[in-house]
Amino acid sequence: MTDCLFCGIVSGKIKANIVYQNDYVVVFKDINPKASVHLLIIPRKHIAGVLDIEPEDSAVIGEIFVVAGQLARDHGIAESGFRVVVNSGPDAGQSVFHLHYHLMGGRQMTWPPG
Ligand code: 5GP
Ligand code: ZN
Repeated sequence: MTDCLFCGIVSGKIKANIVYQNDYVVVFKDINPKASVHLLIIPRKHIAGVLDIEPEDSAVIGEIFVVAGQLARDHGIAESGFRVVVNSGPDAGQSVFHLHYHLMGGRQMTWPPG
């Protein structure tokens, strides 16, 4: 989608520190990390947010979680613990409208989130 920041990262038009990619997803470092490991896992396909996920997207959504586990292991946070977070809408603070899963770890987190 034109004018979408994360579509720009998928296409290579916008620079990002990409740590992993496959046919379904691209994973890159968050520009403003909130934990020592803070990656964003996004579908290559433009999906604006959770409310826009269609039944035909189920394979890519599943792949996102397979990749989340792999990356947690690769980044040494599988044992210590981590979060996979999706913000949806204003109360959750969603600021980029291309579906993205925050993979965060490497510090003690609190519950509930703020
Ligand atoms: P949201 O608030 O929508 O859940 O998360 C958006 C995330 O994208 C934020 O954590 C923010 O730091 C990150 N972000 C925004 N713009 C860029 C960018 O241009 N590059 C990268 N790597 N991350 C970005
Ligand atoms: Zn997009």
